[in-house]
Amino acid sequence: MRQAATRDLENVDVAILGVPFDSATSYRSGTRFGPRKIREVSAMLWGSNQALRVAPLEHVRVIDYGDVDVVPVDIHATFERITHDVKTIHAAGATVITLGGDHSITLPLLRAHHARFGKIAVVHFDSHGDMWEYDFEGFRFSHGTTFRRAVQENLLDTDAYLQIGIRGSTSDFDDYARATQLGARIITIRDAMKMGTENIVETIHQTTGKRPVYVSFDIDSVDPAYAPGTGTPEVGGFTSFQALEMVRGLNGLTLVGFDIVEVNPSFDHSDITSLLAANLAFEFLSLLALKKQNRK
Ligand code: MN
Ligand code: MN
Repeated sequence: MRQAATRDLENVDVAILGVPFDSATSYRSGTRFGPRKIREVSAMLWGSNQALRVAPLEHVRVIDYGDVDVVPVDIHATFERITHDVKTIHAAGATVITLGGDHSITLPLLRAHHARFGKIAVVHFDSHGDMWEYDFEGFRFSHGTTFRRAVQENLLDTDAYLQIGIRGSTSDFDDYARATQLGARIITIRDAMKMGTENIVETIHQTTGKRPVYVSFDIDSVDPAYAPGTGTPEVGGFTSFQALEMVRGLNGLTLVGFDIVEVNPSFDHSDITSLLAANLAFEFLSLLALKKQNRK
């Protein structure tokens, strides 16, 4: 959105942080190019959000903090650098919107948000639960283990952890049951389509209440017809309109952080996936603008 690229955090409300990391993907890599492309297509976004009735940039001062200095061959070093950058931004009083990157990066993001806000409610849009115990040959950290680790590390408020849009084939029939036992409330895509976005939004509000809420948006929750540019697409998902409507419906929650992950420009067409991601970030910004407005 043509905002200043700087690391000066004085009087900043929102920092956009890129994490160009894809070393923890299980299938098609390339999400390291997500942040750059989302920034590029965001140049055409501006002005007033008619749906939420707010002009975000008039209320929140936004900067582009640049990218985390990732280490492609070292997930642990990368995680530490992500947590460090987010803590630095938080210390200055700003909110972080992160552009990924594969979904492994959400674990260090949750660590940093937990350090500031305590146990957080999480609204997790995805076609996958990302709650595997192990992925590659017993390795603990990948984009498929993020939320199991987050539960194991006690970062989440498991009374208020929602997975929305879950679908696709699973390792066995107990896949959902194991996630539920860990505290996830699952709204499968079949449930979601029956409920409609208004009922989903109401469920989110009822579940999260006044807790601090972190939103993690895996772009593969959206149907590949609308978001083909991703590493592990699953057919039969949300439309881009439904995705926007659900995010808009988060207005009024105590929102403390956002990420958009798994955008892979290498498999995109006409930048439509990146454009959707940029628009979701615009909605996030609008929500933060409304939150700031309501505080006054
Ligand atoms: Mn995911
Ligand atoms: Mn996914």
